[in-house]
Amino acid sequence: MKAQDYPQPVQELIARLKRMPGIGTRGAERHALWFLQHGRADARALAAALTAAADEVTACPRCGFFAARGELCTACSDPARDSTLLCVVEQPTDVLPIERCGSFRGLYHCLGGKISALDNVMPEDLAITQLVERVRSVPGCEVILAIGSDVEGEATALYLAELLGALDCRVTRLAQGMPAGAGLGQADAVTLMRALEGRKKM
Ligand SMILES: [Zn+2]
Repeated sequence: MKAQDYPQPVQELIARLKRMPGIGTRGAERHALWFLQHGRADARALAAALTAAADEVTACPRCGFFAARGELCTACSDPARDSTLLCVVEQPTDVLPIERCGSFRGLYHCLGGKISALDNVMPEDLAITQLVERVRSVPGCEVILAIGSDVEGEATALYLAELLGALDCRVTRLAQGMPAGAGLGQADAVTLMRALEGRKKM
């Protein structure tokens, strides 16, 4: 006697869902069954949304953020943006937190990672040549290094500061300090050190 199992398409769906981050075996099964029992219309809409995102969204050819295929991203195609301000981030996902804080009106450049000897990521693996080209095309611009403050982030920032130092631009680094609403006791040593270094006159 053969044991009863889900039909093959459902097994395939569960296997696909399981490959997504944050979805385990039980979660995959729960989602798959929800689609079958309650969400057939949602399933078709989700399938269409997935296909559209996979087919139509790509990296902006200028900055590396997400953009519609063959087009510049919203920021790069906005003439109201200050093109003399270039904010360098590790990943495209780092752009949105900066956008949402609402005080930056410049452009972005996504490196695609950070220099890491341990993970075998070398400068040539990142969008650094493109960054140099962009900086060259806007003499006198400011390059804001909004890169993480871990060891690899520091190494990447130092590398870029040295490389860009030879060009006509001003290189700045995001000020790092105490998280809002936190006491000294909650800050780690690196944060506290940066907060001291970045202190301002009152
Ligand atoms: Zn762009």
